[in-house]
Amino acid sequence: MAIYEPVIGLEVHCQVSTVSKIFCGCSTAFGAAPNAQTCPVCLGLPGALPVLNEKVVEFALRAGLALGCKINPRSVWSRKNYFYPDLPKGYQISQYDQPICLGGAVPVGAKSIALTRIHMEEDAGKNIHGGAASLVDLNRAGVPLLEIVGEPDLRSAEEAANYLRALRGVLVWLGITDGNMEEGSLRCDANVSLRPAGTEKFGTRCELKNINSFRNVRLAIESEIVRQTALLEAGERIVQQTRQFDAATGQTKPMRSKEEAHDYRYFPEPDLPPVLIDTEWIERVRATLPELPGARAARYEKEHALSAYDASQLTQSRRLADLFDAAVVASSGKSAKKIANWLAGELARMVNAGEADVEALKFTPAQLAALQGAVDGGAISLGAAKEVFGEMAKTGTAPEAIISARGLTQVSDRGPIEVACDKAIAANPAEVEKYRGGKKGVIGFLVGQVMKELAGRGNPQIVNQVMREKLGG
Ligand code: ADP
Ligand code: MG
Ligand code: ZN
Repeated sequence: MAIYEPVIGLEVHCQVSTVSKIFCGCSTAFGAAPNAQTCPVCLGLPGALPVLNEKVVEFALRAGLALGCKINPRSVWSRKNYFYPDLPKGYQISQYDQPICLGGAVPVGAKSIALTRIHMEEDAGKNIHGGAASLVDLNRAGVPLLEIVGEPDLRSAEEAANYLRALRGVLVWLGITDGNMEEGSLRCDANVSLRPAGTEKFGTRCELKNINSFRNVRLAIESEIVRQTALLEAGERIVQQTRQFDAATGQTKPMRSKEEAHDYRYFPEPDLPPVLIDTEWIERVRATLPELPGARAARYEKEHALSAYDASQLTQSRRLADLFDAAVVASSGKSAKKIANWLAGELARMVNAGEADVEALKFTPAQLAALQGAVDGGAISLGAAKEVFGEMAKTGTAPEAIISARGLTQVSDRGPIEVACDKAIAANPAEVEKYRGGKKGVIGFLVGQVMKELAGRGNPQIVNQVMREKLGG
């Protein structure tokens, strides 16, 4: 039996973070009362004329330049015709054969996934089904989108999810979108086909529509691979189809096949002139691009000798990376590695456990540097520092205040440590005997007794040292 290799290409729609819509002045804010944010243009009333929002072009250029696309000096708007109640004009204004960006790539781990194109378009409205009637909300009609079409370079469901994560990371980093998948700011269609492993020619694909979470991208593609594999193994052919993933059943189901597929009859939009982009505009946008996550991670490895893993963790979010940079500066550049440990280690653990949100952290870079300073100076133990970090992340209380309120200051004075050591020695003559007879390992037990006596706050180095002195070396 042949072994099949999946071939996957994603089309990603991302809502661009402009204040107003793409062809009118209506607000793009999420969550308003139905149809509150509409006007004759986005309602599609006859005779209303679209005017392009320049900001959308800037965002498209930002994405294109950051992803290494070729910028088309002249791109054209097209009408994509279809009838649907949430599309009152009867067509969507999009770009077709002359999009704004061509080529480019998204770095995903060590691989680079090629892009076909990026184009600008308007979103449709939303149909709300339920009760006795179906309702139409046109607040979303005319909201600007970038459609980012990837080459069929992906080979597994997991790789597709990683690609989507990496792409979302760059787009959010650039401030192009909020990337909120629950609110529909980022959605994707996944095209999936199989071919016998080792062959070149692509198989027939199915397109899985409107997937709205990383988890569902993976699940939808996995279930589609299982479905197509079973068909091919049974000697059947794959029918080119648009399918929908049902998260409840974990299966994809057909929406329409190629025979019923839309013929959009694209034609040039007569109400909008072509978008002309000169090199001056390109250079102006390029000058505003921030250092991108990949470059930032590489710099962390080089400048601060961080591991590749830590560097990639820190650059998952621009906010986190900026926090790291500022905390390193606040520590006078001394503690980069240790500050990275807090953010890529303890904070990542809290985020995974749902105890913290990187975008809503309460502490300041200076507080993090101060916490590390307290550890370095011996004022608190690393264990106590973890406790302080946890509270700092949740409340933003200054580390000094948490340390004194919880009595976490480490005991480094010899006085109380000597008293505790004497007590442990007096209470455990058998262990002391063993130690003096050469079983040096029992010092761990005796130090443990001292730590218990000092409520875990003894400075381990000093406790060890005093104990060794008292036992006679
Ligand atoms: P359409 O506009 O009908 O969706 P495109 O040719 O623009 O078709 O392709 C859209 C997406 O389908 C791209 O992301 C591309 O990578 C992917 N794709 C094309 N052919 C295949 C295939 N045989 N298997 C999997 N994905 C494919
Ligand atoms: Mg498609
Ligand atoms: Zn409007």
